[in-house]
Amino acid sequence: MTSALRPSVVLSAVCLPLAACASLHDAPSVASLPPTASAASSSAAAPSVASPLGAAIDARLKTTEAKLIEWRRHLHQHPELSNREVETSKFVAERLREMGLEPRTGVAKHGVVAVIRGGKPGPVVALRADMDALPVKEEVDVPFKSTATSTYDGKTVGVMHACGHDTHVAMLLSAADALVSVKNELTGTVVLIFQPAEEGVPRDEYPAGAELMVSEGVLENPKVDAIFGLHVFASQPAGVVGWCKGPMLAAADKFEIIVNGHQTHGSKPWAGIDPIVIGSEIVSTLQTIVSRDLDLTHEPAVVTVGVFDSGVRNNIIPDKARLVGTLRTFDDAMRKEVHERVTLIAQSVAAAHGTTADVHIETGYPVTANDVALVDRMLPTLERAAPGSVKPIRKITGAEDFSFFARKVPGMFVCLGITPLADVEKADSNHSPRFYVDESALPTGARVMAHLAADYLAGGR
Ligand SMILES: [Zn+2]
Ligand SMILES: [Zn+2]
Repeated sequence: MTSALRPSVVLSAVCLPLAACASLHDAPSVASLPPTASAASSSAAAPSVASPLGAAIDARLKTTEAKLIEWRRHLHQHPELSNREVETSKFVAERLREMGLEPRTGVAKHGVVAVIRGGKPGPVVALRADMDALPVKEEVDVPFKSTATSTYDGKTVGVMHACGHDTHVAMLLSAADALVSVKNELTGTVVLIFQPAEEGVPRDEYPAGAELMVSEGVLENPKVDAIFGLHVFASQPAGVVGWCKGPMLAAADKFEIIVNGHQTHGSKPWAGIDPIVIGSEIVSTLQTIVSRDLDLTHEPAVVTVGVFDSGVRNNIIPDKARLVGTLRTFDDAMRKEVHERVTLIAQSVAAAHGTTADVHIETGYPVTANDVALVDRMLPTLERAAPGSVKPIRKITGAEDFSFFARKVPGMFVCLGITPLADVEKADSNHSPRFYVDESALPTGARVMAHLAADYLAGGR
């Protein structure tokens, strides 16, 4: 995830499948999802959890739980920033080789891809884990605390797995091990994608991460039919598995507006053009995009100005003002509309004051949308893999580059809670130096990933 993310668990037991993401209020008490009978009836997936294959996967996962934690702690202690996952990549490739796989390394810089060929013909399913850490100095007091440092934006920084990607890698390795152990029984192929650079890279390193993996053909040969990903969240109780149909995470775009003023003495404003006053008007008018322009009954959106930079001294009207902000949308057409409105508002307000504004919009990750039919099909698997702990969640205004995979093939992204139940209200969020993972949740995540793959394959194309 690329920003502070706190998905709320939607606790309503009356949340209809199609409205799950749009539910507007939480019920006062925790309630499990209603039985997913309708989803089950539309499912083509065989219930691996309840089958001999599922039992074999579970048995294997059980025997490697200690390894899962060991791997996670090793990765946690050795975090690497985006596009610099050299040792992480080696670690992953070594583990995969130990499983008898032949990983391909150097994909999209430091990505690792391996293929598990099942004993029977069938579809191809991909499982994805991101591997990178953040420029955050860890404050959690655990024996495997990160003391790593690196250089970010010209500064020396602490490095920490403050978004839990260490757990994603460990869980996917664990799931991979279990799937390899039953590969003769698998009806199809599993592609394991260990992705670098999810958290974002400097502009001169674009494209990166999932986008680059897709352009390097990671979803081709074998041609992937569906993809699953999982993310841990501090805002959910440990072991809770959250799902959402349709748009789940926002598109995140950055904008920069330069207001061209005309510098003059602060005592004689009529002799110049004041970019601070014009910039202020732009900030105010930008608020009308969400409040007055967009059809919010369709999807929500966010327009935030995070930087307003202008002036050096009290009695000088400066030459320029610089506004920088973020745009979050959940629909491609609304995304385009917001871009157009930001540009028009900045330019028109500037024109009304006899000057110009330069607008630059830098597109980031697109909307991450879960394939509705795939979610319908796989919900019974989630229920079996995490009985009683599967909940619909609300949309998340953070962004994820899993979107690049999910725009190519049907995708489903699920959330895993990793905070002890008693601490959920006060838990520090992802990206915090105090981000803490309750490791008791991790076997659930590994189980979810392994069974999503096995069940998908069992269901055929
Ligand atoms: Zn993140
Ligand atoms: Zn993340």
